Amino acid sequence: MPTDFAATRDLFHLPPGVIYLDGNSLGPLPRAAVARVAACVTEEWGNLLIRGWNAAGWMDQPARLGDRIGRLIGAEPGATVLGDTLSIKVYQALAAALDMAPGRKVILSDTGNFPSDLYMAEGLCRTLGPDYRLVTVAPEAVADALSDEVAVLMLTQVDYRTGRLHDMADLTARAQEKGILTVWDLAHTAGALAVDLAGCNADFAVGCTYKYLNSGPGGPAFIYVAPRHQDRALPALSGWLGHAAPFAFDLHYRPGTGVERMRVGTPPVLQMAALEASLDIWDSVDMQALRARSIALCEAFIAGVEAACPDLTLASPRDPSQRGSQVSFRHPEGYAIMQALIAQGVIGDFRAPDILRFGFTPLYTSDADVQGAVRILSEIMASGSWDRPQFKARAKVT
Ligand SMILES: *Cc1c(COP(=O)(O)O)cnc(C)c1O
Repeated sequence: MPTDFAATRDLFHLPPGVIYLDGNSLGPLPRAAVARVAACVTEEWGNLLIRGWNAAGWMDQPARLGDRIGRLIGAEPGATVLGDTLSIKVYQALAAALDMAPGRKVILSDTGNFPSDLYMAEGLCRTLGPDYRLVTVAPEAVADALSDEVAVLMLTQVDYRTGRLHDMADLTARAQEKGILTVWDLAHTAGALAVDLAGCNADFAVGCTYKYLNSGPGGPAFIYVAPRHQDRALPALSGWLGHAAPFAFDLHYRPGTGVERMRVGTPPVLQMAALEASLDIWDSVDMQALRARSIALCEAFIAGVEAACPDLTLASPRDPSQRGSQVSFRHPEGYAIMQALIAQGVIGDFRAPDILRFGFTPLYTSDADVQGAVRILSEIMASGSWDRPQFKARAKVT
């Protein structure tokens, strides 16, 4: 069934006068989320009170919504569960994977990875002891760095700065040939391109829902554990909701069955209500059609910017098959240029040291958005209007 992207755009609240090219960082508000969250607040929390855990199904939401995300990432049913933030899920997956590779003490990652993933790995190594270490190599050097010292290969599939895409199937197969487990971070993949975790034989995966999946600021993360590992994967963060019988209140931890053992504590019910409204939209989306549309939007943007803005250098791979659903350009004054764009309603973001980043999200990005963004960016570059003190003061969040 072809996806009607004009129809899906109408399902989001997009403020007038804004061209939103930052859905890769925070997705916009699904219109239906307003009523869904309001009902969750007034009818469920308000009237059901604590009965909501059973009567409104709050306790089952992390697994139920996990499966709906699972469809978008090619996961088997019962292999994906929601909760916590992505940084915590990275830790949970890494610790479980390391524990399954006795005798090996190296986590391999790349220098394009998002810092929080690397920080979590460093913290875990510190906890486990002096023999454990994180090794990072350039993204192109990952395949050659796979050795039988490595316990876990931890990669973010789409580079948050440049959009460069790792070949998940190929690297997973190469890692597994060397007895290495894989942890794939799908932060910029889930809802951005078609992936097939089961088909790639991935071991672990994690990702967030507030970027392309539009669950709102602070929405929960997800974790995937391949069915073949679920009985062996031991959570380091062994909270009561990952226990086999949380309401038995045993004094000792016993891991629950399946992926639910990766749950930690009380799930964010209001945030999951927003996510549910977004997933209703995602149910109508064909991921191949989404990918084709994303490529078309990105190609149009690159062509327009390169034709009109010679001072901006493409930082993303030129070949669309090597790129996620974002386009980045470099400029030494990238921060000020982005602030000038935002002042005119074109919202992207800036990533140090010099990257202007634009996310293309077919559910609500139109051809007119692309043309408008190109036009406004070319005017700013041609006039030099970005070169003002007001655009150079750095805010806390860039
Ligand atoms: C966005 C992102 C994060 C953010 O982690 P939180 O714990 O949700 O703040 C982590 N890792 C990657 C790769 C990301 O893109």
